[in-house]
Amino acid sequence: MSIIIAVDGTAASGKGTLAKQLAAHYGFAHLDSGALYRLTALAVLQAKGDPGREADALRGARAIDLSMAGDPAIRTDVVGQAASKVAGIGAVRAALLDFQKDFLSHPPGGSPGAVMDGRDIGTVIAPDAAAKLYVDARPELRAHRRWLELKSMGIDRDEADLLKELMARDAADKSRPISPLKPAPDAALLDTSDLGIEPAFAAALAMVEPKVRPHLEGLLKDRHRG
Ligand code: C5P
Repeated sequence: MSIIIAVDGTAASGKGTLAKQLAAHYGFAHLDSGALYRLTALAVLQAKGDPGREADALRGARAIDLSMAGDPAIRTDVVGQAASKVAGIGAVRAALLDFQKDFLSHPPGGSPGAVMDGRDIGTVIAPDAAAKLYVDARPELRAHRRWLELKSMGIDRDEADLLKELMARDAADKSRPISPLKPAPDAALLDTSDLGIEPAFAAALAMVEPKVRPHLEGLLKDRHRG
């Protein structure tokens, strides 16, 4: 059994960066599950479909090309809004479920564990994860981080518009009937508002380590025995 760390949270809360850092720290595989919904949305938009229409969204989910997960085209806010729409459709979530479960049970590269970030990892995809984090930050700060991120990609957006879009997307993600964004009952809550990247990682690690360590030690013992 692989060791799973679930990282959920609001848009631009820093969960993706933390998930990547945790994966690097433990030598685990990492999957940004948001990229699956963004790739689905991009496929729908490219086919001139409607992201809120089940047939179009499902076609998009079946057509995703994971090698595009690093493509900056999926990081735009137009794609983010469309991703939130396709993500509210049960058939799309079901179509993306097996990939996520397989990734967690057989992390690529033979790694002993996986870190996955998203909205429903600790609640739906991996309810038995060894450690769960729920990351949040004040909306104004998240909008500012997003603005900086887009600027570094050469995209100039109005920060007030970004704040509105981000809050609308969080509200939609939290209120949808299927897999709504909410902390798992056993998740540790981390507010990154007043933390830079390094202190946020230190705080995340302090929360996760006591849960992950016993599993790592169990693995080591098994290897010695084997
Ligand atoms: O995390 P990111 O902002 O890339 O996610 C884009 C959208 O994908 C989110 O707003 C959410 O609607 C959806 N999503 C989801 N479940 C996940 C990950 C992302 O519904 N596990």
